[in-house]
Amino acid sequence: MATLQTWARRAPLRGLIDLAMPPHCALCGEMGAWLCTACSDAILALRQARQAALPAPPGIATLAAVAPHRGLVRRVVHQLKYGGMRVLAAPLAELMMTACPHALAQIDLIVPVPLHPRRIRRRGYNQAVLLAEALAACSGRAASLDLVERTRDTRSQVGLSRSARQANVDGAFAVRQALAGERLLLIDDVCTTGATLSACAIALREAGASHVTALTLAWAERYRAPTSRNDAV
Ligand SMILES: [Zn+2]
Repeated sequence: MATLQTWARRAPLRGLIDLAMPPHCALCGEMGAWLCTACSDAILALRQARQAALPAPPGIATLAAVAPHRGLVRRVVHQLKYGGMRVLAAPLAELMMTACPHALAQIDLIVPVPLHPRRIRRRGYNQAVLLAEALAACSGRAASLDLVERTRDTRSQVGLSRSARQANVDGAFAVRQALAGERLLLIDDVCTTGATLSACAIALREAGASHVTALTLAWAERYRAPTSRNDAV
């Protein structure tokens, strides 16, 4: 039986094999596009009444996401993040723009949540950067892909409790230049507890951003935002 490590090593290779073929839907295999219309519509259909009002964690004014992190959404995030399918960033950014147009209103700059360089070397890319770049291209907004850096190589958040996640990312981000009241849109793939988005947004606010909106592809179904900084810790 393949171990998790074996599978993880094979996944990028599988992505390369996929990319050698003509465009086909990463979810159903339909030829013609990396994410077909039927699968895009199915993802949008997963949106619920809750999506309009996700509670925002500290540092973030508004939090928006396309759909809950399950089923097709979980699979497509996995393909983007671990399957080497960078080509999914463009159709997924379009989905983000279609589903959450309000998140892009009155924004000066799109900013991705950074990964530590060591993790980028391991994975080959940062999926949040790919999404931010694609979102800038399809929305016409400016993006700063390296405004924030991850100064600590925090352990993976997977499997950590809410308080452990918060402690894991507190102070893990540094902003490379002073900001002057810009309104930012912070991008990540999944909002699980909001701890990473929150730590990153707080660093941006401390650097001078006037307003941070966050937009992710998915939110964890168990997500509930802390109501204050103290709750988060
Ligand atoms: Zn499809």
